[in-house]
Amino acid sequence: MECDICGSSRAWRKARIEGALVTACDKCMSHGEEVVEEQPKSDFFEVREIHPNFASRVRLAREGRRLTVLDLSRILGEKENILSKIEKGDVIPSADVAARLERELGIEILCSPSEFRIKTKPVAKLTIGDVAEVA
Ligand SMILES: [Zn+2]
Repeated sequence: MECDICGSSRAWRKARIEGALVTACDKCMSHGEEVVEEQPKSDFFEVREIHPNFASRVRLAREGRRLTVLDLSRILGEKENILSKIEKGDVIPSADVAARLERELGIEILCSPSEFRIKTKPVAKLTIGDVAEVA
């Protein structure tokens, strides 16, 4: 991009100079005020993803506490059939339900996208041992 002020080809920042919005190089930037382009307010970095093993984590944690699905549904105020579908992996819990499952069962099934990438193992390579280890 060319600098609107001096024509230098190394301009990539937006600046407001004397009221005009221009593309300016670093040198000319000092004549004005940098305009930081507003990032679209997105939830991208706040979105937490559901762990691929959520179903077994929920089930194992519930069983570890000797709760039935019905018990858990009463604790959470969620429908029993929804919870059993979650445990089968047929239904992905909403972030809200997932957060409550985490709290009630002391498990971790939500992770931020970056954690998700680190923690996720290729599903095809998962063995029973892996599941037991991470659950
Ligand atoms: Zn310039």
